[in-house]
Amino acid sequence: MPSPEPDRRNVTPRALSDREQSWVKEILENHPDWADVDVSGTQVVAECGCGKCSTVYLHSARAHNPRLAGTKGYIGRIEIRTHDEFGITVTLDQHDGILSELYVDFLDLTDAGDRDPPQTWSEEAHTVTRM
Ligand SMILES: [Zn+2]
Repeated sequence: MPSPEPDRRNVTPRALSDREQSWVKEILENHPDWADVDVSGTQVVAECGCGKCSTVYLHSARAHNPRLAGTKGYIGRIEIRTHDEFGITVTLDQHDGILSELYVDFLDLTDAGDRDPPQTWSEEAHTVTRM
C-alpha cells in the first residue's frame, strides 16, 4: 500500500457514493469490532489523483469506535474478479476509531494488461476478508 500519499487531492467533502457505501458496509459487517458500529457522518474528504485507482480518503467529526482510539490499521478487504477480467481490490483502513481510507485498486488481468479501469462491471467472484 502506498504510504506517503503523493497523489492525494483534497475535495469538497461529500457523502460516500452508493458503491463506496456498500463496500464499507460489507467490510464492517464482516469484522466483530465494527459490525455494530454506526459510521454515519463519514465523508469523502480527498481522492487519489493517480488516474489508475479510485481510492478515497475518509473523515468524520465524530469517533465511530472509541475503543480503537490510538490505533491504526486495516479492517478488511474485498476482492472482486469481473467477467471481463479485471481484479478489483477494496481495502478499508481506520485511524483512531474513525474510517480513514478506502483503497480501490484495479488490475487488468489480460495479457496486454493496459486497459483503463472500468466504470461498471459484472462480478464473477467476490470475497471479503477480515484483517
Ligand atoms: Zn491512485
